[in-house]
Parts: sequence; C-alpha cells; structure tokens
Amino acid sequence: MPETVIEPAQSALLPVKGTDKSFPVRRVYCIGRNYAAHAVEMGHDPDKEPPFFFQKNPDNLDTSGTFPYPPKSADVHHEIELAVALKSGGTNIPLSEALDHVYGYAVALDMTRRDLQGEAKKMGRPWEVGKAFERSAPIGPLVPATECGHPDSGRVTLHVNGALKQDGDLNQLIWKVPEMISYLSDYFELAAGDVILTGTPAGVGPVSAGDVLEGHVDGFAPLSVKVV
Ligand code: MN
Repeated sequence: MPETVIEPAQSALLPVKGTDKSFPVRRVYCIGRNYAAHAVEMGHDPDKEPPFFFQKNPDNLDTSGTFPYPPKSADVHHEIELAVALKSGGTNIPLSEALDHVYGYAVALDMTRRDLQGEAKKMGRPWEVGKAFERSAPIGPLVPATECGHPDSGRVTLHVNGALKQDGDLNQLIWKVPEMISYLSDYFELAAGDVILTGTPAGVGPVSAGDVLEGHVDGFAPLSVKVV
C-alpha cells in the first residue's frame, strides 16, 4: 500500500458483546417513518408508502455513553432504534436471503436536531445538518445474531430521567429488517460493515443537558446515555 500523505482516519469500531473484538463500520443507513404511530406524530399518513433512507456518517456512531448537546440547535430529539450490522452485502439481494447478511444487532439512538431537520424539510433541502452531526448516533455493543437470533418482535422503549417517553414493539415495524436490506440493495451496493438503523416508535421528544436517556430493546442490555 502506498504511503499516505496524511494519517488515514480510523474506521469507527463497535464492541462486540462477549468478546474483545470489534466490528468496523463502513456506512450507516437510517430509515425514516418506519412505525405508523411515529409517522402520524410527525404529521404523515401511516399508509405503507415506499421506504426512504438517509445516511449518517460512520464516525457519528458513539459508544462513550455521553451525548454532547450539539451547537446550532435548540430542539434536539431522542429516537430509540434497533440497529442491524451486516457481515456481507451485495446488490439486488432477495428477501429470502437478506438475513444471511446480518452479523448482529444493537440498541442505538438516532439523535436529531429537529428544528434544523424541520427547516430542511420545509425548504426541500437535505437532512444532514439535522441528522449526521458529531456523535449523533449513540450505540450499545453489537450482539451477534448467533446469540440473539433475528428479533422481529420485542418491546422498544426509551426513558428520560426514569420517565417512559417512547414505547413500541419491533413487530410494529412497517418495513421489516429483510425488506430494508433487500430494498437498500436495489439502490446501493451493501457490504460488510454497513449498519442500518430501523426507525423509531412514537414519543420522540426533546432532550436537555443533564438528562439521562435509557433505551431498551427486549433481549438486549439497556443503552444508557447522559446528555452533557
Ligand atoms: Mn430515526
């Protein structure tokens, strides 16, 4: 490999539960409005429209347990989500083979500058300032599918300072994990290291410095994040 003129950036690494190994992240895809009740709270029709995706940057994933309140926003929201990590990929992946590409799952937060996202929506502009900012995706350890299987039901909750704010179930996902993988692979070449955030149930809301967010997905260790 030729010498590089600057230090190459380190790939984001997710710890893998029960091992001293880590999972190197290549890309992060996130689906929008994937629970009917959340689509309604955001002012949209919950009928099954084609899915849509946006991306975060791999280095937005953060395993530190703290979330620094980002600049340029006064309305930062929590979105609790199940994350899916791929061990392989490809294009035009059939539904029946989609889960073969999954390495494992984790509990994650899609932190959102809701005010900036709202402005972007209104003006028909891209969402990056609202979604893909520094440390905008706190995430817990990856659990290999060999250990947790492929969860398609299970309660998903988020508590803020002990109070229940978001409450849903993976069985309410409009687009299921295999459908998301298959759909994405029609538009992008998926590959090992790709992570997909699967959408958030209803109850999103603002956070403040000092808040403690605790995300639960049945079968996973809680993700605890302090807003600083
Ligand atoms: Mn989200």
